Amino acid sequence: MKTGVRLIIFGRQGAGKGTQCERLAAHYGVPHISTGDMLRAAVRDATEFGRKAKEFMDAGKLLPDDVMVGLVAERLGQPDAQVGWLLDGFPRTPGQADALAEVTVDAPIHAAINLDVPEAVVIERITARRVCSNCGAIYSVDRPPTSPWTCDRCGGDVVQRADDTPEAVAGRLADYQKQTAPLIAWFAERGTLVTVDGNDDPDTVFAALIEAVHVNVGGRA
Ligand code: AMP
Repeated sequence: MKTGVRLIIFGRQGAGKGTQCERLAAHYGVPHISTGDMLRAAVRDATEFGRKAKEFMDAGKLLPDDVMVGLVAERLGQPDAQVGWLLDGFPRTPGQADALAEVTVDAPIHAAINLDVPEAVVIERITARRVCSNCGAIYSVDRPPTSPWTCDRCGGDVVQRADDTPEAVAGRLADYQKQTAPLIAWFAERGTLVTVDGNDDPDTVFAALIEAVHVNVGGRA
């Protein structure tokens, strides 16, 4: 098994990060750390933090940087993350990228992957997306679970995320352009940016990701 990689993946919502992250994490033997999944777990557990997070998420807005930095720093300190990690959904702003660089100064990232899919394509994908409200498994109206709408994996209810409606999606894409697209320059300046075309079938995209990471870490993974 290939271990030890520390990767960031970002891209427009609906670029296929969730699907590719499951495969990448298994391939490299590192935990998939998704800030969106962590926040949704807090919402499900109905913690005070989860209640506040839900307000931002339902509105399609980003949570404040300081809150997110604290959450991620704590997660990266846990034992399973000492072999490496795949960070999905963070950093989302240059401020978060600065903070992550400080937190990981002793073990910096190997690559920041920009999974590139045009805006028109992701709008179509996101509004069709359905997810298991229990385990987060991803389906779509074109790829429903075997028994609609019950999760094949855990039996949970498969639903549309509150932030996957057309109105919320428009807001999130505008935020992405303003706050997250500048990350492309941020990582390019530091030599860690890897751009992969995500507008293809999942197997082709996965093969391209593995190849791009391999090149960027000097053949060590
Ligand atoms: P995602 O599943 O990555 O699309 O995240 C869902 C929602 O969680 C986002 O629309 C934000 O409201 C919130 N969120 C996730 N990650 C971050 C982050 N790094 N910074 C701020 N908000 C975040």
